[in-house]
Amino acid sequence: MGRIFITCEDANILSTRNQYDDLDSKERFRYKLHHGHCPQCRSIDKRNALFTSKLNFLGWKRLSDAQKKSIKASVRAALKK
Ligand SMILES: [Zn+2]
Repeated sequence: MGRIFITCEDANILSTRNQYDDLDSKERFRYKLHHGHCPQCRSIDKRNALFTSKLNFLGWKRLSDAQKKSIKASVRAALKK
């Protein structure tokens, strides 16, 4: 994603990652810019937010960053074998 204007497909990926606070400042800028001119993605985003709030309501356990890193490292190690 090297350009400022992103496709709807990219916006959907960013929308999902945004639910986990996983966007850097450039990604967040592109994502907001896309939402400025794409009502379709705005409605997808609303659905994503609703989904996330429902998951949070269920009280599902979230992994800490350390736990995520540990899982990523295990996956990487397993792939190298
Ligand atoms: Zn879009």
